[in-house]
Amino acid sequence: MSLLMIMGGVAALVVLVLVALKVSLDPKGSETDDADKSKIIHVSGVYSVLRKSPRGELAALRPTVEEIKKYLTGVEEDINGVPLKASDRTALLRHWKAQTEMNLRGIEAGDRNGAAYYYYDYLKECQVCGEFIAKGNFVTREEIYNYPLLIPPFHLGCACVLAVHHGTEKMMRETALAGMLPFFEGDTPPPLPEWTAVLSLSAAAEEKK
Ligand SMILES: [Zn+2]
Repeated sequence: MSLLMIMGGVAALVVLVLVALKVSLDPKGSETDDADKSKIIHVSGVYSVLRKSPRGELAALRPTVEEIKKYLTGVEEDINGVPLKASDRTALLRHWKAQTEMNLRGIEAGDRNGAAYYYYDYLKECQVCGEFIAKGNFVTREEIYNYPLLIPPFHLGCACVLAVHHGTEKMMRETALAGMLPFFEGDTPPPLPEWTAVLSLSAAAEEKK
């Protein structure tokens, strides 16, 4: 056998192995849909995000509605000394549920569009969160997946929301220069407010500020 023939044989074998690998890595049924998805994930720079709703994980980490209701019955005033009436407690609980739902739906909608980044925004100034999170601080979908507690509201009467950012990794680097900074400095999240901090939603609380 000549050297050329051996080399030809080796090349043919390599091609066969590659074809076999490709076939085994390409399970049936994973056609355009998965290809599109991986393209989105690749472009966004997030490779291993499991886009599953964080609803269940968040519920397991946060207090239940019953726990919050019980806690609130023992709270006479908010962090500014604004007295809480029964109607204020009801409003706080309703607000907590509505805001949790709104933020979760925002993430679920973002998942359908392949969103990779979210940033914190404020419906109005939040005295409690102000010390922890700046408007424009952003988190990746992967960080939310790893730490569902990053989803607002963080405490009772919280005005912080999570908004989707349709950005690419490159765009996020540029917005970082424009003042939108990543919320994480390392791999673990910075401290977050305690859910027990109460900010009354009433008009009296607005006047007291
Ligand atoms: Zn807040």
